[in-house]
Amino acid sequence: MTSHEYMEEAEKVLLHTYNRFQLVLDKGDGVKLYDVDGKEYLDFAAGIAVFALGYNNKKFNDALKAQIDKLIHTSNLYYNVPAINAAKKLAKATGFDRVFFTNSGTEAIEGAIKIARKYAYLKDGNTDHEIIAMEHSFHGRSLGALSVTGNAHYQEPFKPLIGGIKFAKFNDIDSVKSLVNEKTCAIIFETVQGEGGIYPATEEFVKEIRKLCDEKDIVMICDEIQCGMGRTGKMFAFEHYGIKPDVIAVAKALGCGVPVGAFVSNEKIASAMVPGDHGTTYGGNPLATAAVNVVFDLFEEYNILENVNEVSKYLEERLDEVVAEFDNVEARRGKGLMQGLIVTTPVGDIVKKCISNGLLIISAGSDVLRLVPPLIITREDVDKMIDILKKSL
Ligand SMILES: *Cc1c(COP(=O)(O)O)cnc(C)c1O
Repeated sequence: MTSHEYMEEAEKVLLHTYNRFQLVLDKGDGVKLYDVDGKEYLDFAAGIAVFALGYNNKKFNDALKAQIDKLIHTSNLYYNVPAINAAKKLAKATGFDRVFFTNSGTEAIEGAIKIARKYAYLKDGNTDHEIIAMEHSFHGRSLGALSVTGNAHYQEPFKPLIGGIKFAKFNDIDSVKSLVNEKTCAIIFETVQGEGGIYPATEEFVKEIRKLCDEKDIVMICDEIQCGMGRTGKMFAFEHYGIKPDVIAVAKALGCGVPVGAFVSNEKIASAMVPGDHGTTYGGNPLATAAVNVVFDLFEEYNILENVNEVSKYLEERLDEVVAEFDNVEARRGKGLMQGLIVTTPVGDIVKKCISNGLLIISAGSDVLRLVPPLIITREDVDKMIDILKKSL
C-alpha cells in the first residue's frame, strides 16, 4: 500500500485525537527515518525526545531480542532480574533511593502525586491537601496528570479533575509563595518546560522552591520526563541548579522507545508508601527494564553526555545564525539538545515545509519550533538540518 492508502485506512479506524502529519513511517537508521514510500527524513524530533540513541542500534536491538527469548512479563508479584538491575542504575544516575517503574510519563506523574499526598497524610491525617503546579506546564493526559497540567484547553471538557490544584506562574517565586498554605503537600514543575514552549527554570526559582519546600516540609517534584536522561547536557536537568528535588518523574528516553517511565524518590518521602498503596501489572516488566539497562549501558559506552555538551554548543551557534538571518525567527531558548526557536509566522506551516523538505521537527506551544534530536547527532547532522531549515523558512 502507498502512504496515501495507509492514511485513509488509519482515519477510518483510529480514534481521532491527532491531526497527524501526512507521512507513514516505516523504518529508521541512526538519525534517519524512512516512510513507506521510501522517502528519507533527517530526524530532529526523536519521537518527541524519546529515541536518544538513534534508530536501529544493534546493541540495543540485540539486548531486547535476547530478553524476548528469555522472559517478557512476570507481574510485580515476583522479582525479576532486569528490573532490579535497572532500578539500581536509575537510582545511581539520579542520586535517589527508590524507584517505581511505570509504563508511561503520565503514570510516573500519577505516582509522584500519590507519594506526595501519602507523605502529607501520614503527617496530619488530613485528606484535603493541595498541590501547586505551573501555568503552561504539561504533565500528561491521565486525569491526575491532566489536573496538574496548566492548559485550560486540555482540561476543560474533562472536568471535574482532581481537587486541590493551584497554578502559579512559572519562574515567579512570589506567585508560588502566595499560594502556599498549611495544606500544601507538593510543588510540581518541569525543570525545563517542554510542550509549553522550551522554558528552562531559572536558577533563582529552583533554589527558592527548594528552600520553601525545606522550610514547610513540602514535597518538591521535578518532571524530568522530557528534559531528563542527558538531554540538557547533565543526566538530569535539576543537576544544573545545585539542588535535589524530593521526587522526580522520568520517561521518554528512559527506554528509548520501549514504553517505560518511573518515579524516583528520596528515602524520606518513599518511606510513606507501604504494600498496597500503589501497583501496576506491566510496570517494570523484564522487557521494559531490559531496555532501561541497555540504555544506561550505551549512554556510558557512547559518552552521550559529552556528545550532547559538544554538539549542542555548535547547534546553538548555528541556530543563533538563523535567528540573525530570518525576520520571522525572533529568538532561541533552551538547554543542550532541547532547543526552541520562537517564530512569528505560523509554526505549523514551517513544520510542514520542513517535513516536505525531508526534516522532522516539531512545535511547542503556539509559536515555537522545537528541536529535540537523538542525542547521538553530529555536527554534520546539525549542518544538514540547518540547510533544510533555512530552505524551509
Ligand atoms: C511527554 C511528557 C509527559 C507525558 O508522558 P507520556 O509518556 O506521554 O504519558 C509528561 N511530562 C512531560 C514534561 C512530558 O514531556
